[in-house]
Amino acid sequence: MTINKYEKCFECGSSDLTYGEIELTSKVGNHVVTHKSLGYTCKKCGEQWFWIHELSVAECRAAHQVFSTGAEISQSEVKFARKALGMKVNEFARKISAHEDVVWDNDMTMLKVTPEIIATITSMLSDKIKVLTVHDEQTVISV
Ligand SMILES: [Zn+2]
Repeated sequence: MTINKYEKCFECGSSDLTYGEIELTSKVGNHVVTHKSLGYTCKKCGEQWFWIHELSVAECRAAHQVFSTGAEISQSEVKFARKALGMKVNEFARKISAHEDVVWDNDMTMLKVTPEIIATITSMLSDKIKVLTVHDEQTVISV
């Protein structure tokens, strides 16, 4: 992959960069997952960064990793998933067949996390990961 816009490390100024898989750690509700995303690594100072677009993909991948592996899912993971999916409360509530008031509540304390809800969210996450394939954002963030 070619490096165009960000040819220099903004930490040390080196142009000795590689673009490829970088390892990320995300907190998904009560779980901490390590997953891979695409980004730049400065060979000189080790600084890593990636397109902000990759962050959305990374968050969805992290959530998907938790939801699809039979980990214990509570309201806080559901909350993370809604944000990773970038869905509005009413839209999300409809998808998981929950009452909007339940989802409006920041901690979703009234939400009963059923296997159906977990399955629905898992499939929404995998769809979103498929959709997020084009670089449409040119903003980078530091890891
Ligand atoms: Zn550097």
